[in-house]
Amino acid sequence: VKSSGKNGVRRFDGALDAELERRKVLEREFQFALQRGQLSVVYQPIFHLPSGEVHKAEVLLRWTHPEFGAVSPGTFIAMAESSGQIIQVGGWVLDTACAQARRWRDLLGQPLVVTVNVSPVQFLQPSFVPQVKNALLRSGLPASALELELTEGAVMQQPSTVRAALHDLRQLGVSIAIDDFGTGYSSLSYLRDLPINSIKIDRSFIRDLATPRRAPQYAVALVEAIVGIARTLDLQVVAEGIESSGQLELVRSFGCDFAQGYHFARPMEAQALTELLHHDVTA
Ligand code: C2E
Ligand code: CA
Ligand code: CA
Ligand code: CA
Repeated sequence: VKSSGKNGVRRFDGALDAELERRKVLEREFQFALQRGQLSVVYQPIFHLPSGEVHKAEVLLRWTHPEFGAVSPGTFIAMAESSGQIIQVGGWVLDTACAQARRWRDLLGQPLVVTVNVSPVQFLQPSFVPQVKNALLRSGLPASALELELTEGAVMQQPSTVRAALHDLRQLGVSIAIDDFGTGYSSLSYLRDLPINSIKIDRSFIRDLATPRRAPQYAVALVEAIVGIARTLDLQVVAEGIESSGQLELVRSFGCDFAQGYHFARPMEAQALTELLHHDVTA
């Protein structure tokens, strides 16, 4: 957009310039974020619906910039992927998550599975499986307490590399979840052909269930169909983005095994989750 000299347009250009400038600064400074201690992770509990207990926790990366404050993962993950830094940062997330899961295991005497998001850029590296192995070795965490979240896009790329990596991970005892399920425009055969343990129904489908009176028929049918696919293939199914009791009751009635969302809890510091686990909060 060219500034025509009219006030409104000039102001719009100014805002755009500021945003572009901010992105440039963020891109430049992300490379120092890890060494400067600006990265951290938070944990969002995932509830097992039949028991109402927290069985898993999703690990979510945070970047607090000294000047700009909290930067959205939607912004910085993409930057880290295009620069390749996601490989190193992803390794740090794995180490941090496994060490914390080990602490919870020692503290609570019960296993809590940590689920770690893995970028396709990170996953397709030959160093990825060794990275996972090392994180488990260093922390002393059993592989059964680690789940990796991959998107459909990630598992549809480079089929032979993906297949080999997934089988190696399965051999180790690590679980695999398909994140944002239903948004990838991919065929379903990979669910049958690859060693996958669970699927996470994308938040957009769960959002469609949320209407004041009655959920639209198409939304109910879609989520029910996804749960049916999971059942048929013997996969666990997680509903993410549950924000209301109405949504919760629906996904429970469809037979979802797990649920996650603001209705239960927001992502939180490890310490806060420790307290929640001690209180054994139920749904
Ligand atoms: P995702 O894997 O789909 O993670 C779920 C996102 O939904 C998180 O956003 C979480 O805070 C948010 N969320 C959870 N419950 C609700 C809810 O009830 N309502 C709404 N509206 N949102 C909810 P967040 O933390 O901003 O992360 C965004 C994305 O960034 C993640 O989406 C994931 O793709 C990526 N990401 C986060 N951490 C990592 C990481 O360590 N590695 C990689 N590769 N990607 C990450
Ligand atoms: Ca995820
Ligand atoms: Ca997701
Ligand atoms: Ca997502």
